[in-house]
Amino acid sequence: MKRMVTASAAAISVILASASHAAALPEYQTNSAWYSQAATVVSDRATTSTASTTAKNVIVFVGDGMGISTQTAARILEGQSKVDNQGGEENYLSFETFPHTALAKTYNTDQQTPDSAGTMTAMMSGAKTKAGMIGVSDNINRGDCEVSHERLLTALELATLQNKATGVVSTARITHATPAATYAHISDRNWEASVPEECEGKVSDIAYQLIHQAADINVIMGGGRRNFIPDSVEGPEGSNGRRTDGNNLIEDWQSFNSKGQYVWNSEGFNAIDTHTTSKVLGLFNSSHMEYEADRDDADEPSLSAMTEKAIEVLLNANSQQDQQGFFLVVESGRIDHAHHGGNAARSLQDTIEYSNAVTSAIETLTAAGELDDTLIIVTADHSHVFTMAGYPKRGNPILGLVVGVGSDDPSLANDDKPYTTLGYANGPGVGASFDAGVRGDLSALNTSAIDYQQQALVPTSSETHAGEDVAVFAMGPQSYLIQGAIEQSVIFHAINQAASLGGNAYVGKE
Ligand SMILES: [Zn+2]
Repeated sequence: MKRMVTASAAAISVILASASHAAALPEYQTNSAWYSQAATVVSDRATTSTASTTAKNVIVFVGDGMGISTQTAARILEGQSKVDNQGGEENYLSFETFPHTALAKTYNTDQQTPDSAGTMTAMMSGAKTKAGMIGVSDNINRGDCEVSHERLLTALELATLQNKATGVVSTARITHATPAATYAHISDRNWEASVPEECEGKVSDIAYQLIHQAADINVIMGGGRRNFIPDSVEGPEGSNGRRTDGNNLIEDWQSFNSKGQYVWNSEGFNAIDTHTTSKVLGLFNSSHMEYEADRDDADEPSLSAMTEKAIEVLLNANSQQDQQGFFLVVESGRIDHAHHGGNAARSLQDTIEYSNAVTSAIETLTAAGELDDTLIIVTADHSHVFTMAGYPKRGNPILGLVVGVGSDDPSLANDDKPYTTLGYANGPGVGASFDAGVRGDLSALNTSAIDYQQQALVPTSSETHAGEDVAVFAMGPQSYLIQGAIEQSVIFHAINQAASLGGNAYVGKE
């Protein structure tokens, strides 16, 4: 033992001796832009104090399926679109500079790789549950009709009890798993417009719950109009409703909210007067809203436009109805859908728009003088089997073929064929990725095209979720509660504490 101490002390004295000869770090080190930029990040962190005050407002952004590789690739794609880019890798998405970060463990109570229903339930209620179930505890099973004895109170419901204005915004159907987990309680995510015959009278479908049974939500915006109108009624875009019970839930909402505004397209959306309106129902598509890459601004608003409008209406509800702050959930629902289709380009474009929506929120809150009172959490519900691979050189087009340092020609794999930087471990791939066991040749393909489907190793009709952790970013009051590797359910508890939602006061009560 003594010998080891002596050896270690000797090693330290060698280091000290060499250090004492170095008057300063060499200039080629300190003059490096990387060195000075990184030093600035640390000095800024050292002087940033995160307010320990109570969060008056809370916004939770959820990028559905936005794993960390998706974030990295979207950051580079956005960077490469900037005229002064240095390759694109140096870019940051808006939320990546938030002061506090954590990694969230996403598994469901019964599934190693999760689905959105169970993960969003964990974030909204503080308790994990099974895959496919929304706002109900793990004590029951998927498909159980009776759920009233196992309902989990959500952060949105607690916010309503605290007299906060509330909102839910998504580019998916507003009855889809992630947005539904803010307001609904049901044992099967697929029961969006009806429930199985054996459950009728025991539980209502998700759309019915939203209009008739859920907390009184100020702002509801997204897709999924078909789930609100009868199957005998044709919607404005020509497709019929999905409801078999004859209810027209849009008319029901209008009768409950005579001063509220129902809108279904960009024209109506743009006409919303945020100085007089405190209730909005916006259903902009029969099913999911369009991908950002396909969206026509004349037909549907963007996620960032919806985010800005939602905040303005919620702030107006605060002043008109004397509400105390707001709770808003904004989901980018289709990052996930494009990944399921093995289509990186659309997924990354939706991720960039998601980043824009966060910027839009910060700008709107800043203009209203509300930013310092707002806890903003930006995260994902789960990842995808999406990878960024090979040794492409700096600035190589992120959607392109791998071209290595010092070369203008694509790198070749062992089968003498080029390969893309982005790929999937499973999925539909490009046509027959492995036709008769042979990988397709990409030499003549434009892999940056919007419809291109990256090659996948394992052929599956739909690319799958992945089980690794997702990132959580936070800024604002008590955002320091978001740190380390955490269960996803911790997000609820951080919100509950930072915004004093009073969740603990309801423990053990009906
Ligand atoms: Zn999915």
